[in-house]
Amino acid sequence: MTKNMLKFVTLEKNMPAKRSAEERREDFQEIYDEFATQKAVDQASRCSQCGIPYCQVHCPVQNNIPDWLNLTANGRLEEAYEISQATNNFPEICGRICPQDRLCEGSCVIEKGFESVTIGAVEKYITDTAWEKGWIKPTKVTRELEQSVGIIGAGPGGLAAADELRKKGYQVHVYDRYDRIGGLLVYGIPGFKLEKDVVEKRAKLLADSGVTFHLNFEVGRDLSFSELRDKHDSVIIATGVYKARDITVPGSGLDGIVPALEFLTASNRKGLGDDVPAFDDGTLNAVGKNVVVVGGGDTAMDCVRTAVRQGAKSVKCLYRRDRKNMPGSLREVVNAEEEGVEFVWLSAPKAFLGDDTVSGVKAINMHLGIADSSGRQVPVEISGSEHDIPCDLAIKALGFDAEDVPALFDEPGLEVSRWGTIMASYGTGQTNLEGVYAIGDIVRGASLVVWAIRDGRDTATAIHKYLSDRRGLAEAALAS
Ligand code: FAD
Ligand code: SF4
Ligand code: SF4
Repeated sequence: MTKNMLKFVTLEKNMPAKRSAEERREDFQEIYDEFATQKAVDQASRCSQCGIPYCQVHCPVQNNIPDWLNLTANGRLEEAYEISQATNNFPEICGRICPQDRLCEGSCVIEKGFESVTIGAVEKYITDTAWEKGWIKPTKVTRELEQSVGIIGAGPGGLAAADELRKKGYQVHVYDRYDRIGGLLVYGIPGFKLEKDVVEKRAKLLADSGVTFHLNFEVGRDLSFSELRDKHDSVIIATGVYKARDITVPGSGLDGIVPALEFLTASNRKGLGDDVPAFDDGTLNAVGKNVVVVGGGDTAMDCVRTAVRQGAKSVKCLYRRDRKNMPGSLREVVNAEEEGVEFVWLSAPKAFLGDDTVSGVKAINMHLGIADSSGRQVPVEISGSEHDIPCDLAIKALGFDAEDVPALFDEPGLEVSRWGTIMASYGTGQTNLEGVYAIGDIVRGASLVVWAIRDGRDTATAIHKYLSDRRGLAEAALAS
């Protein structure tokens, strides 16, 4: 059915309007406006309805993209929403923050010479409309089951699993050491990419559906892992990765050098109205400062753009490879540049300067040498190219590793990889412990929201099978 489709020949790709950089620098609101209805319809109608839709193949939750684009183009928005939510628990979140240029849109095979369909923005539009129209309702469980599942971590992975398990009737308990639901959706990712009320609405929906949340509750401190296992029929570990990678160069212990997530969390908490002494006393606040962020991933992009909004005097991003080889999304680099961030490509810190507090970074220029076994060119120092960059706040954004979960949970039997991530079977999340599953970043290493959602969904299916089998056995035992 291609009625009203294949319009890529006459219609150009268009994103929702972006607010001006001057306006964006002043607040933490999202930078894209909502699509006007006609524009969403037009953009959806550019899809050529491929027989083998590569967009879908490269979407981690395998969204049925051609179908919901078709329904949107033909004004059947409620059906488009039904199809979209069937494969993704949080489509409006993915529509906002998936790096679409590396996933669905990057794989859109619209005829050569034409730009891809704007998939993410249409996905966001469909679900934002569904919220507005009241089509999204709490789950009504038709058959309550006695079995319960304990989920450690209220990030996107844990929440997707909770949603799926609750729909099947399980008693779902989610434990999180933080005071709010959402994990990095709330405390890592800044509001200009994902406004917090989007996450709050989802959290409320899950609570209204009967999921029980235990906040300010740290497993390993408030309850041991083995006690949690005794309490529930199955347990999911969805604790994410939080050990910040460090820079070991002279001066790295100076005041004014801070880890990225501390900086971002302070900013997000302040935005949420919390009392944040380290923000107020200037430790985790860029106002009036020359800021240098070290790193080239999405976290570094979030730090530079947060610093701009806080009123930094200047913001530089130091990255040891070049623009083409950075891990972060190119779309975010463009946004950062528009907002006034200066990128210092092919540059790495050799030392931090200063007496007690940082006053500068001694940087060295790099060139890209021979590729290593992963295929990436290795950055090599250019001797004699050292130069000083003044700064009074340096932010380290070099990625994250897994904490020592077996030690934290006092469960030495839990199998982990040499990077500390939990070993879990692909497609089920089953660990080596009976009834214990693991999902999201704690299995994959620092990854993406949409992959955590995919894991949560897969593991909910696996647990449903595991617990159904156990119910079957129990019922058979009773009958015999
Ligand atoms: P998390 O979101 O980390 O949630 C884990 C939860 O477990 C936390 O709430 C934590 O408090 C809780 N927890 C941990 N230990 C315990 C314990 N012992 N007891 C109780 N609770 C515990 N991805 C994208 O797709 N797009 C982006 O734009 C993007 N931007 C990012 C920006 C930043 C700054 C960062 C850091 C990450 C970004 N990511 C992005 C990655 C994405 O946020 C993660 O991949 C995703 O959140 C992983 O989900 P998760 O559920 O595995 O873990
Ligand atoms: Fe694209 Fe992410 Fe939506 Fe999949 S979930 S269609 S990758 S924006
Ligand atoms: Fe439509 Fe592009 Fe997907 Fe093809 S690859 S179905 S054109 S969105």
